[in-house]
Amino acid sequence: MDRDKCNEKKSCQNCEESPRCSHEEKEAHEQRLLDERMSRVKHKFMVISGKGGVGKSTVATNLAMTLANEGYEVGLMDADIHGPNIPKMLGIEDERPGASAKGLLPITTIHNLKVMSMAFFLQSKDDAVIWRGPLKHGAIKQFLGDVYWGDLDYLIIDLPPGTGDEALSVAHLLKNVDGAIVVTTPQEVALLDSRKAVTFTRQLKVPLVGIVENMSGFNCPHCHTPIDLFKKGGGERASREMLIPFLGRIPIDPEMVSCGDSGISLFSRPGHEEVKSAFTNICENWRKLLEGKSGVRKTQSAQVT
Ligand code: ADP
Repeated sequence: MDRDKCNEKKSCQNCEESPRCSHEEKEAHEQRLLDERMSRVKHKFMVISGKGGVGKSTVATNLAMTLANEGYEVGLMDADIHGPNIPKMLGIEDERPGASAKGLLPITTIHNLKVMSMAFFLQSKDDAVIWRGPLKHGAIKQFLGDVYWGDLDYLIIDLPPGTGDEALSVAHLLKNVDGAIVVTTPQEVALLDSRKAVTFTRQLKVPLVGIVENMSGFNCPHCHTPIDLFKKGGGERASREMLIPFLGRIPIDPEMVSCGDSGISLFSRPGHEEVKSAFTNICENWRKLLEGKSGVRKTQSAQVT
């Protein structure tokens, strides 16, 4: 492709002065810009789940916050185009990204955490995004290539539940995703779908970092008796059977729901040590794998914990 044809600091899509670029040239140009942007991100991870409601976005958000609290530069990309919840969970749903010569500016929230989501572009919170695959692919391409993320230690990409277009787009556009974290709840119906998510990830050749078992046990706030609302240990068992590391379990904490609904971080509330240390442990296990590098780049065959 002739690099001089268009202004390469901008995406061809917005490049009025380059009408001569063919469709293929524009595609190549956009991919090159995306690659350049993403080369400034040290580690890119996808957070996936087999079904909705297992706490995938909650886990993605809290992992991002835990890493940001530890001083890392973190980006959190909400790739759930139809149901973008992350801005609501972070209390930034009324923000609107600005534009600069370098690209679209993500919303910077607490502690070096930058966020991009479809929710920022909806006129009303009740608006539905009714898009087919190619439009969603375009949006994800823009989130990766047109957003000015800057230098990041981690980019965490929260994908919609299931094995659809969005994960395909991310894997196709990024090519070198460091890995996928699978979030599940312990009961059999959730595990069945999680296995599909694992198979899907393997087919995409995205390395599996590990499984997080969310909503794993609950301590009665009155008598402190442990109650296994959705059973316990299913995620760990599945990780053994599928030869994927088990990253850790997060108990049910009703405060997680009120925090998510009101856009407040659980980490800013006193107490809730069990949940807070669960996230810290998961990050710790994850980091161990990352440091072992081979553990991140290829499918695991051993348990971490
Ligand atoms: P998903 O992204 O898988 O659809 P969400 O992250 O939106 O799921 O979580 C669904 C609901 O479950 C939210 O109200 C969230 O606050 C709640 N939730 C998630 N994890 C926990 C937990 N460990 N304890 C209590 N509530 C949780």
